[in-house]
Amino acid sequence: MSLSEITRDKVRQRAENRCEYCLGHQNYILGRLQIDHIQPLSKGGVNTEDNLCLACELCNQYKWTKTEDLDTESGEIVPLFNPRNQKWKDHFNWNLDGTEIIGITACGRATIEALRLNNNLAVIVRKNWVKAGWHPPN
Ligand SMILES: [Zn+2]
Repeated sequence: MSLSEITRDKVRQRAENRCEYCLGHQNYILGRLQIDHIQPLSKGGVNTEDNLCLACELCNQYKWTKTEDLDTESGEIVPLFNPRNQKWKDHFNWNLDGTEIIGITACGRATIEALRLNNNLAVIVRKNWVKAGWHPPN
């Protein structure tokens, strides 16, 4: 069953129109933010709101069907960040100039690697967002 427009709108509003992984806002991204299944349908995930989040195209593409990844610091495979039952600030922080995301937990670090949250394109775009006074979000 595909997602209804009502469900999609709810997910967008709940996320305040931001990617729930990199916090990129819809107003600063050319592509439409996408609905991501936290637990992918291919791995038994369902279409309910508690399994859905909002993600930019880059994050969604890198996440693909991943649900866990390696934390290089502890050497452990850990679950990726789940925006439904975890808080972004508990796992991530911005670096001093606001262009890179820092993982402050194993989950945060593994998610940064898996979703390439500090890929070159994102960092360049964030530099311009900072110059414009749009970033980082409060
Ligand atoms: Zn993103």
